[in-house]
Amino acid sequence: MGPITVAAIMSLLASPGSAPAQAADDLPPIVYAIEVADSTAQTARVTVNVPVPQGRDSVELMMPVWSPGYYVVENYAKRIDSFEAKAPDGTPLEVEKPSPNHWTIATKGQNPIVFSYVLTCKIRSVTGNWIGTDFAVWNGPATFVTLADEPTTTLRPHLLRVKRPEGWERSCVALDRAPGEEPDSYVAPTYDTLADSPILVGTPTVYEFTVDGVKHALVEVGSIPKGWDGARAASDVEAIVRATARFWGKLPFDRPYLFLNPHWQGNGGLEHAHSTLLSTSPRMTMEGPGYPFWLGFVSHEYFHAFNVKRLRPVEISTFDYAAPPQTASLWISEGLTSYFGELMVARSGVVDPSAHILDAMSREIRSLQNTPGRLAQTLAQSSLEVWNGGTSGVGRDPSKTVSYYVKGPVVGFLLDAEIRRATDNDRSLDDVMRLAFERYSGATGFTPDQFREAAEEVSKTDLKPFFHKALDTTEELDYQPALDWFGLRFAPRENDDDSKVAPWTLEVSPDATDAQKARWKHLTTDGERP
Ligand SMILES: [Zn+2]
Repeated sequence: MGPITVAAIMSLLASPGSAPAQAADDLPPIVYAIEVADSTAQTARVTVNVPVPQGRDSVELMMPVWSPGYYVVENYAKRIDSFEAKAPDGTPLEVEKPSPNHWTIATKGQNPIVFSYVLTCKIRSVTGNWIGTDFAVWNGPATFVTLADEPTTTLRPHLLRVKRPEGWERSCVALDRAPGEEPDSYVAPTYDTLADSPILVGTPTVYEFTVDGVKHALVEVGSIPKGWDGARAASDVEAIVRATARFWGKLPFDRPYLFLNPHWQGNGGLEHAHSTLLSTSPRMTMEGPGYPFWLGFVSHEYFHAFNVKRLRPVEISTFDYAAPPQTASLWISEGLTSYFGELMVARSGVVDPSAHILDAMSREIRSLQNTPGRLAQTLAQSSLEVWNGGTSGVGRDPSKTVSYYVKGPVVGFLLDAEIRRATDNDRSLDDVMRLAFERYSGATGFTPDQFREAAEEVSKTDLKPFFHKALDTTEELDYQPALDWFGLRFAPRENDDDSKVAPWTLEVSPDATDAQKARWKHLTTDGERP
């Protein structure tokens, strides 16, 4: 257990898709240790050894107020119960708190300084922290402080030592093992990477598989219901990973990818560059509609590894953890991720492709058409105004707002049909995503106009009217061109009280032509272009 060297770290630094790191040779590591402090009180202790820049008589630390990908200001510092700073020999150092998420420590000539704090871990969510009786989940932004005046892209080793409670068998985090360190020690090349790597500690069941040379693992803990078949779930997730790899043509990972899957009463998932933290609630593991929904949910998070973790709107191509960004493009980052997430499930072949997409699109269209706010807020506004009320529409007034999670995939479906129609099925929205990825992924980022221009380049048609109507107006969407292209219709209902057929239920039209059926098959499977 020797000190970690910069030379050993430098070989691990390359991280495709991350923002360009500031060149910084020989920066000493920040060393983090985390352990359960009190399992009954559900608290963790984090100890941070912070190197002091030469000549500095104080060090300022900060904690994020939000988590990339989860567009809610959560002010994580308020979950810190107590904190203290010491010299390496234990001499107390003075700490001031100039703002709720900043701490200034007088160094008194000491180097490093040791800052430690106790965190309450009672929140079962994909951005919160949790300590239960048999496992714990820690999310970076809610857990780790960093240097306030150093860019979070700075190449400086961030060494993480996880101390497992006795009897808990492993820690799982999508970081490289720290060379020369004890097990459960990891290294991140930047604070961004550390913050982007949720940690799960416990005794999970781990299902591993390899796709295109990249190891993946489904990591399961929590209240796994009777009848849940983890091996089957892993096999189905593997098929979705394969479909996603075929879609993009390559996998962008330089270390294993983890699906961290606590079974608990919670909502949502959060995407990361080499992992996702899921919340699998009992509702999703039900027989019947639950499982295909779960597959779509997992597929959405995996598609995010490409769309939003690497291909990003320019406004979120780098993160300011203290100042939430505004972008009009969340309909692309979230809405199109939902659209393609469901298509990847269909194209994986683990479900009936046609039925799966008909179900998924009917659900979104029905939800949209039952949201009065679709006539009050545009899709672009929905994205720009996300900070007013929650990432998934929680707390937003459905009479005044529309969710980009709902309208986004519907617009994606209509746009895809438009591109296919304009090119006589030669090109599709698939090609737009691949072109945008090639051109704008990493720190480049895309603007709304650049995304539209990529779609126009692929479709060789003027899409300004389509984009304007779909994104910048509250006019009702016109489904008919897409229905005509794919040979679909909304199932007829005898009257509005007809409970046999839910409103806005898509079905293949009984008089669909062979050409229309072939186009529908081409959308929903990896089959030949008709
Ligand atoms: Zn998402």
